[in-house]
Amino acid sequence: MVTSSAQLGLFYLSDDSGGRHLAMGKRKSSKPPPKKQRAKLDTTFSCPFCNSSKSVSISFDRDMGRATAKCSQCAQKYESRCTPLTDAVDVYHDWLDSCEEANK
Ligand SMILES: [Zn+2]
Repeated sequence: MVTSSAQLGLFYLSDDSGGRHLAMGKRKSSKPPPKKQRAKLDTTFSCPFCNSSKSVSISFDRDMGRATAKCSQCAQKYESRCTPLTDAVDVYHDWLDSCEEANK
């Protein structure tokens, strides 16, 4: 069984899952905690009412198909419908749109 480890190495080399199998000679005894692979979309926004930055958080009630945007500073709230594809930023923009509508 001389070839088995070499075959394994080749297999890992040709595996393009980000090269995490092949640590280039370095061995870590423990895995680092999984980092966020990609920048997650923002879920906090500036409030259109009190202008506090990052004070608006979006929460989803996917079962109910409902999304709620709420400002932690002035307690303004906005409810919107959501689909499984709705992002927090969509809800926020809906809120801004509805604010503009209301200001007409
Ligand atoms: Zn606010």
